Amino acid sequence: GTSDGAILECRGIERRFGGIVAVTGVDMVIQPQEIFGLVGPNGSGKTTLTNAITGFYPPNVGSIRLEGKDITGTAPHKVAKLGVARTFQNLALFNGMSVLDNILLGRHIHMNPGVFRTAFYWWAAKNEEIENRKIVEEVIEFLQLESIRNELVDGLPIGLKKRVELARALVAEPQMLILDEPMAGMNQEEKGYMSRFILDARAERGVSVLLIEHHMDVIIGICDRMLALNYGEMIASGIPKEVVKDPRVIEAYVGG
Ligand code: ADP
Repeated sequence: GTSDGAILECRGIERRFGGIVAVTGVDMVIQPQEIFGLVGPNGSGKTTLTNAITGFYPPNVGSIRLEGKDITGTAPHKVAKLGVARTFQNLALFNGMSVLDNILLGRHIHMNPGVFRTAFYWWAAKNEEIENRKIVEEVIEFLQLESIRNELVDGLPIGLKKRVELARALVAEPQMLILDEPMAGMNQEEKGYMSRFILDARAERGVSVLLIEHHMDVIIGICDRMLALNYGEMIASGIPKEVVKDPRVIEAYVGG
């Protein structure tokens, strides 16, 4: 059956690529405003599961519900419009563009192309522009990107690039935020900042978060619950402090 009140509910997810079973039998239920960790060694199916949710590679078997609504197989741009935003494991920023312009791109899902066809073009476009600017300014302030807003993203340190990516996801005003290794390559201090921003995004913007992360200290520090995958299958789930002690999880990391 369905879980009442869940923001995201994945049931029996299987995705194959040719002969490879990338994930199978995966159940994952995320409650509103939960920070939910997803861990597993490389190749365990974490990205495949997020690609199934966001519609890039729909599941071959299973169902995905967002706030109770079946979104299985829905196209990525529609899933985005329904309120799911993601960041990518490998940065997807546009070099040669400023921090501000990269963040503004995150607004495009809300831009209304019909605006350009009406007699009220100028007025409507202006209003939309004002609304876009408002949310973008809020997020720039929230993530403390003010001082670098006009810099090109190209030369920024990894910690700031990851923060710009988070900003771009947040300006879409998502309900569900999927972060794919947001702390990769970060030092302890940068990880601390990013953890704080994720907690604050939940507190101030009400987002629910699916966090793919290899740093177990971060998972234990900020996740309410977590799921561990290995070879595309669920091996443990529950409270992080307990899951990380699970012999199957330790084995997956030591053995893998
Ligand atoms: P993780 O994100 O945990 O590192 P992935 O989901 O990327 O794991 O990969 C799980 C398995 O699925 C791997 O064997 C990988 O090679 C395979 N896989 C993932 N995406 C594709 C794809 N687009 N085409 C073919 N195989 C894929």
